[in-house]
Amino acid sequence: MKLLTDNQIKYVLFHLLQHWQANEEVLNRFYFVDKNDFSSYKNSIIFSLSEDENICPIEFSVLNKTIPILFPCEKKAENQLFEMDSAGNLLFKHDYLKSAFYFLSGIQETETKERDAIGRFPYSVSIQKQLACCTIPVVNYYFEIILQGLEMFCQHHKISFNRKYLFDNFGFFLSHDIDQTKFFHYRETAHKLKQLLGLSPLNYSRKLTLNLFIKGLFYLINPFRGKDPWWNFDEMITLEKRLGIRSAFYFLRKERGSIGSRYLFSNRKIKKLVKTLENNDFETGLHATFFSADNNEIMMHQTKEFSSVYGKMPHGIRQHFLRFFHPKTFRLHEKAGFRYDTSLAFVEHEGYRNGYCYPFHPYDVENDRMFYIWEIPLIMMEQSILHYRKLDFAGLEEAAFALIEEARKFGGMFSLLWHNSRLTEYEYPGVNIFYAQLLEKIVGKNPEIFTGKKLIEKLC
Ligand SMILES: [Zn+2]
Repeated sequence: MKLLTDNQIKYVLFHLLQHWQANEEVLNRFYFVDKNDFSSYKNSIIFSLSEDENICPIEFSVLNKTIPILFPCEKKAENQLFEMDSAGNLLFKHDYLKSAFYFLSGIQETETKERDAIGRFPYSVSIQKQLACCTIPVVNYYFEIILQGLEMFCQHHKISFNRKYLFDNFGFFLSHDIDQTKFFHYRETAHKLKQLLGLSPLNYSRKLTLNLFIKGLFYLINPFRGKDPWWNFDEMITLEKRLGIRSAFYFLRKERGSIGSRYLFSNRKIKKLVKTLENNDFETGLHATFFSADNNEIMMHQTKEFSSVYGKMPHGIRQHFLRFFHPKTFRLHEKAGFRYDTSLAFVEHEGYRNGYCYPFHPYDVENDRMFYIWEIPLIMMEQSILHYRKLDFAGLEEAAFALIEEARKFGGMFSLLWHNSRLTEYEYPGVNIFYAQLLEKIVGKNPEIFTGKKLIEKLC
């Protein structure tokens, strides 16, 4: 990355304006300067631009947190983030705009070819892993530095300065990916037999696998069988309604050759469920299939199918397995007419794939333009903590509340994805009580609760 282009600077400023009630008097004094000679400026606001191609992070403490600044301009840092000089100028000492752009635009995902087994950009090669900053909304801290500088400038020049917050406290967005609805599907039961025969790796102990295989067999042959443990939507709806939550449910159609998709949109029970959710003010959206992430035809087909079966175009989308190609998948989303995506998280770690706890527009680096579509960042998926990081429920709760504290600092948001398939007592004893208490505790922190659709309405 060389100097930021004009479009890239405008892009970062667009997001800065989510935090500040800008006035022309101040904006007209903005200058973007790639030299160290500021002698010709007076009463101006000078953003130093870095020409460095490579990241060369230095650390600063901002709001008592150690933050890496990716593109410092003065290598012998004077331990200063900005200063007012004798000519009434405000000088930003480092390139906060380029540092913010780096995270927000997702450019790191186009700069490396390393991918995991199913083509995803892996946490293990990310700058977040390298700098141990995945759970810090770094871009919010960069904007904080700029806002503190602007506030000082405005005080000095007796100009009014007002901040803006998206939420008074913080926003909470709960969502569910409905991959599967039958725990005792004959394929699941057959898979357990394969595991017992040593033909497939075990998910849990042999004893539990055997137990579930037998339960599955009895379930399948019993004509009076009860409800399947993955058909748990009444319980989910009742719990959320009791707590005043309305969440978003993303539906995944069956796709040949891809794992974990089992039903069709036209399935009678699914159609009824979608209707019930809509009638109760929940949001329903598309959980786009594995192969849709880089295939326009597939993306278009399932979007149209969703619209025709359920009688409405979905506002939001999330990719199955969070399989996402930057920037291609966003182009497909825009073409298909989505208002927002909410796929951007690292599968392997909770936190901020784009360093920001606000909704944002992604950037099309290849065409040097901001996408129209919004991204509502996915900040925590239960799977990342419990499966990939192998933490327990207490670890999940601690991680969630640390992220909520970050959101509260900036009037930002916390989002949580919880799969209906991870609410089975057979597999995860105690999960239902834990999950209900977790939601209760989050609601107890007094967030503004929204669906993706409602949030986009608030933003536009
Ligand atoms: Zn999925």
